[in-house]
Amino acid sequence: YYRGSWSSDSSDSVISSESGKTYYRVVMIGEHGVGKSTLANIFAGLNTDCDVLGEDTYERTLMVDGENATIILIDMWENKSGDDWIQDHCMQIGDAYLIVYSITDRASFEKASELRIQLRRARQTEDIPIILVGNKSDLVRCREVSVAEGRACAVVFDCKLIETSAAVQHNVKELFEGIVRQVRLRRDSKEK
Ligand code: GDP
Ligand code: MG
Repeated sequence: YYRGSWSSDSSDSVISSESGKTYYRVVMIGEHGVGKSTLANIFAGLNTDCDVLGEDTYERTLMVDGENATIILIDMWENKSGDDWIQDHCMQIGDAYLIVYSITDRASFEKASELRIQLRRARQTEDIPIILVGNKSDLVRCREVSVAEGRACAVVFDCKLIETSAAVQHNVKELFEGIVRQVRLRRDSKEK
């Protein structure tokens, strides 16, 4: 059990357990078909130490910069019931977000901007770590969104950009390490 250390203060986003394990609740959001579940499955399959908590939730411990981090990855944005409350819930529960688009689908890139604005509105007072993820980078000939556009968008929205390919597993490990680093950066600057 957790001895009162589940963040009692809601502005303290990182949850620490008694064992000293640090949990990061990472929520994936983005248009249908951009590759969220494929990325989540790679995350889940990366090592044997992964527990499937539920249909859309995965847990895995990564060693990042010499320190363990346990990510609880939540891929329930596209719930089958189509209930809006689940998306509202997703906007509230993340310690960090991966906003995913496909570099082959401009509409999904535009949707990513919308989601960033929605997230900012939902969590106004918080400085939430976000990575903008341009997936399907293997499909070079179908590219509709340039790296430069992705970067410009990330600058406007004050987040990081990474292009990944779930299909050829390019930059996927870097993506999850990156989100851990983003949370830590904010945690460390808060401690000062
Ligand atoms: P979701 O709706 O965001 O969860 O998207 P899915 O993970 O279900 O992926 C949608 C489709 O895109 C599937 O057919 C995947 O195989 C394919 N896909 C996902 N990631 C990639 C990628 O990086 N490259 C390519 N070529 N296809 C991908
Ligand atoms: Mg999916």
